[in-house]
Amino acid sequence: MKPAAFVRHVPKTLDAALTILAQVAPQDGRVLAGGQSLVPIMAFRLAKPAHLVDINEVAGLDRLVSDGKMLSIGARVRHAAFHTSVVDNPLGALLSEVARHIAHYPIRMRGTFCGSLAHADPSAEWCLVAATLDATMVAKSTRGTRLILAKDYFQGIMSTALAEDELLAETQLPLLAPDAKFGFNEFNRRAGDFAMAASLVTYRLQGGKIVDARVGVGGAEAAPRRIAEAEAALNGQAPGDAAFRAAAEAAAKAIDPLEDHQTTGEYRRDLVRAVVRRALENSQS
Ligand SMILES: Cc1cc2nc3c(=O)[nH]c(=O)nc-3n(C[C@H](O)[C@H](O)[C@H](O)COP(=O)(O)OP(=O)(O)OC[C@H]3O[C@@H](n4cnc5c(N)ncnc54)[C@H](O)[C@@H]3O)c2cc1C
Repeated sequence: MKPAAFVRHVPKTLDAALTILAQVAPQDGRVLAGGQSLVPIMAFRLAKPAHLVDINEVAGLDRLVSDGKMLSIGARVRHAAFHTSVVDNPLGALLSEVARHIAHYPIRMRGTFCGSLAHADPSAEWCLVAATLDATMVAKSTRGTRLILAKDYFQGIMSTALAEDELLAETQLPLLAPDAKFGFNEFNRRAGDFAMAASLVTYRLQGGKIVDARVGVGGAEAAPRRIAEAEAALNGQAPGDAAFRAAAEAAAKAIDPLEDHQTTGEYRRDLVRAVVRRALENSQS
C-alpha cells in the first residue's frame, strides 16, 4: 500500500521546526527523522499523519559531543554513527557493541538514535541503553525545554512522556567510569530482527568485588528498565558463575513478561534468565 496524502515540511532551524510542530501536532502532525519506523507504518496505513515535520535539514541536530561527563546525541545522529567508538570512554565501546545488533546496515544508515527513543519499541536496543544508563532526554517545544529522566520517560509499549508538540532534540548519556565493565546480549530468531529479550549490564570492581552494578532488561516487558533485584544480587559479590546465575535468576523472577502469539510468559522469563547471564559473561571478555 501507499501512505495516505500528507504535507511535508522541511524546516532549516530548530525554532522553525518547533513552530510548525506546534501548529500541526493537533492534526496528528509527526516528526520525520530516519523514517525507518514511521514510513513503514504509514505505508500500511497504521498511521495517517496529515503533516510531517522533516528534521533532516535542521541545523545543529547532528551534534554528537562529549563534555567529559556526558555524551550528547542530537536528533539527527544515525545509528551508524556508533559503528566506531564516538568517545574515549568505555561508553564508546558499549555503544559500538550495541549498534551492530540494530536491524541491518541500510536501516542503521538512516534510522536515528533519538527516533528510536521517540518510537519506544520495547525491544529497541537504544531504549535499553537509555534505561540502563539513566539517560536524560531533552524535549523541546515552543513552550520551552524539559529534561526527562529515563525512569519517567518510558511509559509503556511505544509510549513515552513526550507531548505531541515536543521534539526530542537530544539525548544525554552519562560517561562510564574509566574502569567500568559492560556486557550486552540479545536473543532473536533471525539476525537483524527485533530482540525477544535483551540485557545490558555495567559494573566496576573494587577489591575484587562488584560495585555500582546496573542490570537493564529490554524486550521482555512493556518498557525497558533496570532490575534492582538483579543489581542487588551482584553488588558485593565476586564476578563469576555463582553471582551471574543469581542475578539472572533474580531478573527472571522480577519481570512481568509480555506474552504474544509466539511466546508464553514463562518462555520470556527463561529468555531473560539467559540474556542476563550471557550479558554478564560477556562483561568478562
Ligand atoms: C526491517 C527493520 C528492522 C528493524 N530492526 C530494528 C532493531 O532490531 N532494533 C531497533 O531498535 N530498531 C529496529 N528497527 C527500527 C529502526 O531502528 C528505526 O530507525 C527506529 O526505530 C526509528 O528511528 P527513525 O529515526 O527511523 O524514526 P522515524 O521512523 O522517523 O520516526 C519514528 C517515530 O518517532 C517519532 N520521532 C522520530 N524522531 C523524533 C524526535 N527527534 N522527536 C520526537 N519524535 C520523533 C516519529 O514522529 C515517529 O512517530 C527496524 C526497522 C526496520 C524497517
